Amino acid sequence: MSRPESPKSGADATRPAPSPPSAPDPRPALTDLPLDDFDVLAELPGARKFTPKQIRAWVWQRGARNVDAMTDLSKPLRAALNERYRVRRSALSSTHPSNDGTLGVLSRLDDGEVIESVSIPEERRHTLCLSSQVGCAVRCSFCASGQQGVTRNLSAGEILEQILLVRELRPELPLSNYVFMGSGEPTHNLANVLAAIRVMNADEGLGIGARRITVSTVGNPAALTKLAEEPIPFHVALSLHSPEDAQREQLMPGLGRSDLRASLAAARERFERNHRRLTIEVAVMAGVNDDTRTGHALIELLRGYPAIVNLIPWNPVDGLPHRAPEAAKVDALADQLGAAGLTTTVRRPRGQDVGVACGQLRRHAH
Ligand code: SF4
Repeated sequence: MSRPESPKSGADATRPAPSPPSAPDPRPALTDLPLDDFDVLAELPGARKFTPKQIRAWVWQRGARNVDAMTDLSKPLRAALNERYRVRRSALSSTHPSNDGTLGVLSRLDDGEVIESVSIPEERRHTLCLSSQVGCAVRCSFCASGQQGVTRNLSAGEILEQILLVRELRPELPLSNYVFMGSGEPTHNLANVLAAIRVMNADEGLGIGARRITVSTVGNPAALTKLAEEPIPFHVALSLHSPEDAQREQLMPGLGRSDLRASLAAARERFERNHRRLTIEVAVMAGVNDDTRTGHALIELLRGYPAIVNLIPWNPVDGLPHRAPEAAKVDALADQLGAAGLTTTVRRPRGQDVGVACGQLRRHAH
């Protein structure tokens, strides 16, 4: 899910003139290659046994932007590699710095599509919010990403290049946490999201600990079962928004049939395996889910369940039919859940002055 916050586009945005997409480069991108597939590079003319390891390190640890930067490969080997592969990097389209340190980043893909990533530095962590699709088919009524529908899935490399790009943009702020909460429903592009997570988590990839990665999903039970089977113990967050199936179907028209009991049962399989509690996300909107009735229903649904509830006060988005909740009502809801024994947090909105959430930057870029 996109982080449902914030109203306007960035006034300070750095906006180089957008260049039209050039003819597609037919060479496969090394960033799309699963780590084991680098082994085929040992067959290149002039390659040695350790060549795949060297190239993998250049791509993922040393951040080479092109083959010419791989200076410990011989010139003929570089030429052979360059002929067959490229090190792709999505092009920076614009940056949108907020007064609170949040940075919205729009990057342009090979085919001209634009995606949004958000860097969120806090006192003890620096979180990167990643997109997994261009747009989103779930069409949540409170999310700008969903209003535009889905255009296509991102490849594993396109997901990962968001990390490389933000690392280059903010070298002074090492990233610590990664959340799939940008545009797109990660389980609608599960194969590529899992391929990206494998590269993120592997020592020979980006070496990111599994507990620092969160996949946020609308929680189709079958998709949650697939996530439960995945051995890498990353966190899973369920975008619940309402404890009632009928209201969820209304708020998320592209969801299909909501069956929260089945979703929670499927997510529990993952808890049995890795003991990571499920995060339950609720975008709180005035008159929709900010009342004690919602609180009671959440308590009924989640009593005894290994979960942490994250309340996200929603902020107005141009043209969307919802209102922000009063802070006092969000606090009262948090108190109600807490008093019933549910671990509950309220997320502080970030980057509001530049509109970095909910796919809004991307919407303004078109
Ligand atoms: S429309 Fe998609 S990206 Fe937006 S909140 Fe819903 S699931 Fe997330």
